[in-house]
Amino acid sequence: MTDATPAPSRPLPQADEISKEFFDGGMAGRLMLMKCTACGALRLPSRRHCDVCLADETAWVESSGKGVVRSFGIMHQRYHPGFQTPYNVAFVELEEGVRLPTNIVGVANDAIRVGMPVVVEWDRYEDVALPKFRPA
Ligand SMILES: [Zn+2]
Repeated sequence: MTDATPAPSRPLPQADEISKEFFDGGMAGRLMLMKCTACGALRLPSRRHCDVCLADETAWVESSGKGVVRSFGIMHQRYHPGFQTPYNVAFVELEEGVRLPTNIVGVANDAIRVGMPVVVEWDRYEDVALPKFRPA
């Protein structure tokens, strides 16, 4: 018998009315993007109004899941006990042109490079799947 305290779990996002399609798509292994049906602009994260034309008519389209690392940083400060440091935070620009804050997996932090081609994979939890990216 041990007195070990279980490791705290990391905080996870919860879908709301606007992001439900994104998170439902993730559970199905599909990276979904919100598209303005008035002007065609994509937006991520999902939000009610288009940044370009302010319309609120939208459709959802599936991303190829391919992109490149546009920026990244290595976090050494532990802001939540559910995260083990060091970890990376990256912005991946998808082929469709939108940028997604994420983590790069399957490669050492010191091997991550701006411009590195990456492809989505899913970090699955009970009720949510988070898009992460590994080298393509
Ligand atoms: Zn628009």
